[in-house]
Amino acid sequence: MPLVSTRQLLDEAAKGGYGVGAFNVNDMEQIQAIMEAAKETNSPVIIQASRGARAYAQDLYLYHLMLAAAELYPQIPLAMHLDHGNSYETCVSAIELGFTSVMMDGSLKPDGKTPATFEENVEVTKKVVDYAHPRGIAVEGEIGVLGGVEDGHGAGGSGLDHVTDPDQAVEFAERTGVDSLAIAIGTSHGAYKFTKKPDGSVLKMDLLIKIHNRLPKTHLVMHGSSSVPQDLQDIVNQYGGKLKQTWGVPVEEIQLGIKNGVRKVNVDTDSRLAITGAIRKVFAETPEKFDPRDYLKPARAAMQKVVALRMTQFGQAGHAGDYKAISIADMAKGYKDGTLSTKPEVSK
Ligand SMILES: [Zn+2]
Repeated sequence: MPLVSTRQLLDEAAKGGYGVGAFNVNDMEQIQAIMEAAKETNSPVIIQASRGARAYAQDLYLYHLMLAAAELYPQIPLAMHLDHGNSYETCVSAIELGFTSVMMDGSLKPDGKTPATFEENVEVTKKVVDYAHPRGIAVEGEIGVLGGVEDGHGAGGSGLDHVTDPDQAVEFAERTGVDSLAIAIGTSHGAYKFTKKPDGSVLKMDLLIKIHNRLPKTHLVMHGSSSVPQDLQDIVNQYGGKLKQTWGVPVEEIQLGIKNGVRKVNVDTDSRLAITGAIRKVFAETPEKFDPRDYLKPARAAMQKVVALRMTQFGQAGHAGDYKAISIADMAKGYKDGTLSTKPEVSK
């Protein structure tokens, strides 16, 4: 299947009542791990790259690896998404390269650290939508500010410092026309999300429900949604790692979110932990080895395992064959004739 829009994947997920994992990549092995997991579970999937990933791998390497993935797995609906675009220019450069959807994170100023005003956020996000939609490209916005920092991006602090205000979310969606919206309901980026074992109230589910009821057509996105499982932390530390004890977002909480309108679930830390644990194990047990394949193969397999598990838990497993690809040119027509409008039917 050619690369498709995340909008199509998320529309289908809404129809089917499931969530779609969006997994971050920086290199070939991570893309391979995700595609093998998608094949194994028959899942549609979003692969996303941050600005940091684009700088690390270089745009053209990333893009051609994604094209290879689309070609090698024609049965898998696959979208290529820019994670946390910090400016109009970053989003435009991703679209010019061939990304099929972008996130404009206008909740922060272009430095990626300082919270922006609501008006600044609306202005830059609308500008990106006005550029992207006529080209058939979907846009994710962010309202409220997520906790933590990842890849140098983030305001830091707890996920509860700047939770999303539902009135602002509605106004933001109406004024910008975004396809999907990342909301701050208590999640944070990075491995250190919670300092004690979270109970059932870690996420502001009441807020999520309010926003979903008022914006039924705008797909909600949960960032910072790694579960940081204990067994992956343990493998890293068992073989010489020094991770501090931490807790992620329990899978049951994510599943509750999916029941209430969350369609895209961002996962990065879990993959990183799986890879690092597998590599450390090879280094510790067989220090005489020096062929990178000896440790990259188990690393790739470990990431595939956790990604396949998440695909099953989010409900996307089994849905790869549900639909045919809509071309990006046809998506552009849909935005033009209004069939892809997300304007809320339920007003204030
Ligand atoms: Zn994020």
